Amino acid sequence: MDSAIQEQSICQKCVMPEVKPRIWLNEERICNLCVDHANKPPLQPLLESDFIKTLDKHRGKHRYDCLVMCSGGKDSTAALYFMKKRYNLNPLAFMFDHGFETEEAINNVKRAVAKLGVDFVFYKTEHMKEMFKNIVKSKSKAIICHPCSIWYMDLAFDMAEKHDAPIIIAGWTKGQSEKQEVMSKCGCNVHAAEYADMAKETNRFLEEHTEKTGKYRDFPRTMEELLAKSKKKKHKAIVLSPHWFLPYGPEEYVKIIKEEVGWEYTKNSYPSKTTNCNMNFVSAYNAMKFFGYTHYHVEMSKLIREGVITREQALEDLKMQFSDELLNDVLSKIDCTVDDLRK
Ligand SMILES: [Zn+2]
Repeated sequence: MDSAIQEQSICQKCVMPEVKPRIWLNEERICNLCVDHANKPPLQPLLESDFIKTLDKHRGKHRYDCLVMCSGGKDSTAALYFMKKRYNLNPLAFMFDHGFETEEAINNVKRAVAKLGVDFVFYKTEHMKEMFKNIVKSKSKAIICHPCSIWYMDLAFDMAEKHDAPIIIAGWTKGQSEKQEVMSKCGCNVHAAEYADMAKETNRFLEEHTEKTGKYRDFPRTMEELLAKSKKKKHKAIVLSPHWFLPYGPEEYVKIIKEEVGWEYTKNSYPSKTTNCNMNFVSAYNAMKFFGYTHYHVEMSKLIREGVITREQALEDLKMQFSDELLNDVLSKIDCTVDDLRK
C-alpha cells in the first residue's frame, strides 16, 4: 500500500501531514505543532541522579523492586537491561500476548530474561480479539492500539499489585511522553490537537460497544481514568521510563542489547525496525485511512523536534509497504478480511 501522505502536504520540519483544522502548514510549509514547539521554552532535561533517588527510595523493600513492561522491542528490552545491570535492581519482567505478538518479539523477551536471570510473567489472553473484531466489522474509526494500550497498562498495575512491585517501568521514549508524565504508549495526551479526534473515536466506540453488549463496562476509557483507578488501589505503583532520564538515543542502546542480551530486529513491522504486534498493521492502515496519519507520525515528529532522530529516517521508517496478503493473514484471526477495511 502506498502512503496516503504526499510529500508536498507534509511539514518540512517533521513528518506531520496537513489535516485541517487541527494541523496546518504555514507559508514556509512548517506545521503548527513545530511552530508551537519552537515558541515554547525547551524542556529541562531530566536528571539521572533524580531517577536513581526514586529507585533508591524503593530498593529492597518489596518482593520485586520494579515490574518492567516488556514488548520485545528495543526500548523496553533496553529498559529491562538498564534496570538490572545499570541500576542493580531486582526486576520482574512482564509481557502480554493478545494473540498478535510476533514469535520474534516473544523470543527477544525470553532471551533477555534468560540472559539477565530475572523472573518473568508471560500473560497470554484471547480477551482482546472480540474487541478488535468489533472495531473492524463496525467500521469504527477507533484506533485499535488505544484500548489495547490502556488495557495493557491496567494489567500492569494489577500485576504490580499481585507481585508486590512499587515501580512500573515502561520503555517509553522521549517522543512518547509530552510532559514526561505517565501516558499510554499510543493513547498519549488525548487533549493534544494531534490526538483529540482519534481519542474521541476510540471513546465513542467503547461507549457504543458497552451499550450494545454490556461488555467493557469496567474498561477505562482514557489513560487519565486508568490512573485515577490505580490510585484507589491499596498497592501504589509509580510509572517511569529510564529513557526520559538517560542521555542515550536508540543507536547507542540497540548496540548494547544486541551484544548483551541477543536482541534482534523483527523482519516485518510497522513502522519498520520496531517490534510492534501484527494487529498494528491493521491499526496503522485504519489510522491512515480515517485520519491521514498514525500515532507513529506524531511520536516520530516529537523525536525529530527533540533531535533524537532525523526526518529522513522517520520518513523511511513510516513508509507503508505491507501487502493485502499480510493484512488478510492478520485479519483471519478475527474472522475478517481486507474487504472489511475497504467496503
Ligand atoms: Zn512539523
